[in-house]
Amino acid sequence: MVYDWKAALAFFVTLVVLTVVGRRLVFLVPAYQRMREENYEVDRRKLSRGRFKKAVKASNNAGLYTNLAFYVTVLPFCISLETRPLWQYVVNILAVLMVFDFFYYLTHRFLFHGKLLRKVHSLHHQALQPTHIDALYVHPLETAIGLVLFLFSIPLVAAISGAPLNAFSMAVATLIFTQLNTLNHTYVNLPYFPFKTVDWITSIHAAHHVDMNRGNFATLTMVYDWLFGTLEKPVSRPAP
Ligand SMILES: [Zn+2]
Ligand SMILES: [Zn+2]
Repeated sequence: MVYDWKAALAFFVTLVVLTVVGRRLVFLVPAYQRMREENYEVDRRKLSRGRFKKAVKASNNAGLYTNLAFYVTVLPFCISLETRPLWQYVVNILAVLMVFDFFYYLTHRFLFHGKLLRKVHSLHHQALQPTHIDALYVHPLETAIGLVLFLFSIPLVAAISGAPLNAFSMAVATLIFTQLNTLNHTYVNLPYFPFKTVDWITSIHAAHHVDMNRGNFATLTMVYDWLFGTLEKPVSRPAP
């Protein structure tokens, strides 16, 4: 095992650059810009409540420390700068995302909606009509658990494939994970071409937020909800 700090640094820089450039490009589209403004307006109202703001801060801190600890102690052992054929990047990215989503499905369904962590998870479910900020309105313990499930999918897939994974491909996997988790909670009302897919993604997770007895437990794809019979129809929403 090699502690490849250069690969970890390349991962981090790539993730930051992709996030910043991606956001710039996406919000060049006027329809997305409009939706962002609508979300921010509601977010500002929510954040004006002291308790809400405090909860978001605690979740952010939990995320920051969990990420930092992982990036310094585990990540450099399971990624490298070695290049691979393109198909291998695609397979590795999909594997990490699907492994995470499987464990997240089980955790969300049986721990967060089970007896053990229902109370912890109920904070996040106070958002009956989620907007952008509700992706961060999560108990710090839940934030840490969710992140650990994603982050440890990287060493798990590396161990299964028998070699460190490419740093750039893992930055892309992490970008998809973070952006989909945020998008899930965003209020989007664009049920027409070419925005239909984005509208559908947000309406699927909105159906989970209607109350704590709904399905749609996975967070990246609906494959596991479909397989295990907990798939709910998307809900169309009034403006929050
Ligand atoms: Zn839930
Ligand atoms: Zn949610």
